Amino acid sequence: MRTIIFATGNPHKLSEAAGILGKGFQLITPADCGLAGDIPETGNTLQANSLLKARFLWEQTGGKDCFADDTGLEVEILGGAPGVHTARYAGEGHDSDANMNKLLREMAAREHMASVMRSYGIATPHATRRARFRTSVTLILDGEIHQFEGVMEGRIALARSGAEGFGYDPVFIADAYPGQTVAELSPKVKNTISHRGKALRAMAEYLQSL
Ligand code: IMP
Repeated sequence: MRTIIFATGNPHKLSEAAGILGKGFQLITPADCGLAGDIPETGNTLQANSLLKARFLWEQTGGKDCFADDTGLEVEILGGAPGVHTARYAGEGHDSDANMNKLLREMAAREHMASVMRSYGIATPHATRRARFRTSVTLILDGEIHQFEGVMEGRIALARSGAEGFGYDPVFIADAYPGQTVAELSPKVKNTISHRGKALRAMAEYLQSL
């Protein structure tokens, strides 16, 4: 069995990743290695941030195999925001309630502005509620860097619904299950379609091919 450190303190993510990687891998966390605190995310892209987190962990553990992920939500009507700022959209607290409130508020403001412009006969490009989650995973294995990506396409709901999952799940409707939000899907179903599920399966395929 191969032991790999996953740079997360989020139990949802840990069990998602353990389910995807399967029995051949033991996942441990930075806390299991005696490391505490947030890992700096100062990059301009998801790839840069997942690399920063993985490299930080690799250095702190004296070169142990590890991986890190970074996820962004890209919303069409917001010009691709919040993107790399998804976790701290409403401020430093990583507060999902505040983040979702801000997202719905900003989208309503843009939609209102566009409809007022149109009522004055001013041509406004028709932006929809289309959105996607994108995850970048960086794996450092035997000191070598490998990157993987996964995307989940969908749209932002008008209001929250559902209690499963975490983060923005209550306001995200995946194209694969258009009748409900991701927070209304079981964790198992979410894993099969999610951005992180896809990126982690790409990493698992690579690891299993070794
Ligand atoms: P992180 O890169 O995993 O820290 O995630 C960045 C932001 O995206 C945080 O606000 C998370 O709550 C949110 N997020 C990450 N993955 C998911 C997901 O699977 N569903 C909903 N929100 C997510």
